[in-house]
Amino acid sequence: MPSVYIKTYGCQMNERDSEAVAAQLVAKGYTLAPSEAVADVILLNTCSVRDFAEQKAINKMVNVIADARRARPDVVLGFMGCMAQSRGQELIDRLPDVDLVLGTQKFHRVVDYLDELLAGRREKIVDVAEEQGSEATIREHLLNGNSPKSVTAFVSIMQGCNQYCTFCIVPYTRGEERSRTIPDVVTECRQLVSQGVKEITLLGQIVTSYGKRGFGKIDSLAPRGTSGERVGVRGILENELLTPALSSPGEEREKKSPFVKLLDAVHEIEGLERIRFTSPHPKGYGDDLIEAYARLPKLVEHAHLPVQSGSDRVLKLMHRGYTRARYVGIIEKLRQAKPDIGISTDIIVGFPGETEDDFEQTLSLAREVEFDQAYIFKYSQRRDTPAAEMPDQVPQQIREERNQRLLEVINEIAKRRYSAFVGRQTQLLVEGPSKKNPARMTGRTRCNKIVVFDGSERHRGQLMDVQITRAGSFTLYGDPFVLGEH
Ligand code: SAM
Repeated sequence: MPSVYIKTYGCQMNERDSEAVAAQLVAKGYTLAPSEAVADVILLNTCSVRDFAEQKAINKMVNVIADARRARPDVVLGFMGCMAQSRGQELIDRLPDVDLVLGTQKFHRVVDYLDELLAGRREKIVDVAEEQGSEATIREHLLNGNSPKSVTAFVSIMQGCNQYCTFCIVPYTRGEERSRTIPDVVTECRQLVSQGVKEITLLGQIVTSYGKRGFGKIDSLAPRGTSGERVGVRGILENELLTPALSSPGEEREKKSPFVKLLDAVHEIEGLERIRFTSPHPKGYGDDLIEAYARLPKLVEHAHLPVQSGSDRVLKLMHRGYTRARYVGIIEKLRQAKPDIGISTDIIVGFPGETEDDFEQTLSLAREVEFDQAYIFKYSQRRDTPAAEMPDQVPQQIREERNQRLLEVINEIAKRRYSAFVGRQTQLLVEGPSKKNPARMTGRTRCNKIVVFDGSERHRGQLMDVQITRAGSFTLYGDPFVLGEH
């Protein structure tokens, strides 16, 4: 059978999409190639959030064409994901060696399309159409593929975004918000846990909007099982999905959001040790979610809450739907509920019209909140987004300079916060060998700090206590606290 190499750019959702595509291909007999140099099919799963990410994928394809195509003229080349969705046919017009362009609602079609291309039945395929029910098609996992057992897994709970932040291309590349049903998500999580997964991260563009626009009623696109039957939960009425078995009259009074109901349902899974999620949005961050941190022991003490700017004026221009005070209020409540919670964020510098004063408000917000980690993005003009047409675009040099200044503040705070762990005992979930030094093992604390320690394969998947001995840059180093080992 042909072999496939998939290279992924961008966010965790893209990683998850690639994993599902790989698993679907393996289920149909394809093998996964260790490198593009020996693959029969090379797929690039792309990101469009910034121009830089698009250029990286295009340059990669140019190199692949120069190397792989020349060596093996029959190799099939494809773009998938966000850039494929936003550029479509344009990609083949620009790079005629590309055979396949597959949009974000079409990942589940990859096997059929590759079969057709490899058999020579079709020469080129571009499919970027919308497809109802596609949110429920990212469900297969590649656990224990070539490697030892996976301890952590991502589960996609929804697709799309309806927030329309003025800087962001995602609503155009991922489409309208569509949520999977609670039973469907729980079934997938349960299966993962039965295969040894201990920690699940629930994924969505804005998870706090989960279920707010209803659910797909029938997952008619669910992949077929071995005997041809559709697998998954089907034909369930919308109302039933919002009131899973564990709901009670008390819960009704509490007015739990669908997302918190989903957390409750996933929390019930026996054998699951930890739950994470990303990304919530400050606008929909209700008290029910803050209470969930205090109430659900498996929900770990980490919140990734994108803020984007510390200036109310810029937040308004971005169409974020909250103020700085609202953001800081959420963080205060989270820290009241869980004093040790780790807080991370996304920040954009150099948004159109951002003045020095606006930027200084972002610096002051970073100092006020004291983030454990922040992903800083230099604003990138995205076509068809309102911000791309706004006046007062900030010169590139100023974007670079603000990026550097904010990075210094973030790093200084993180250094202090990471150093405060030295001497403390903390619980890790051991994930596997350290990437930098495979002779050592790595795990993650509940508050999302990576800890490197002297361990061995037998520790993989274990919850263990370590004593933190040293803090590096966004990494902690620990000694196993032997008596506390589970
Ligand atoms: N959906 C999440 C939200 O709105 O909070 C974030 C998803 S987005 C893929 C990840 C991050 O990319 C955003 O939080 C934002 O900081 C950054 N980003 C998005 N569009 C951008 C742009 N045009 N230029 C620079 N950074 C951008």
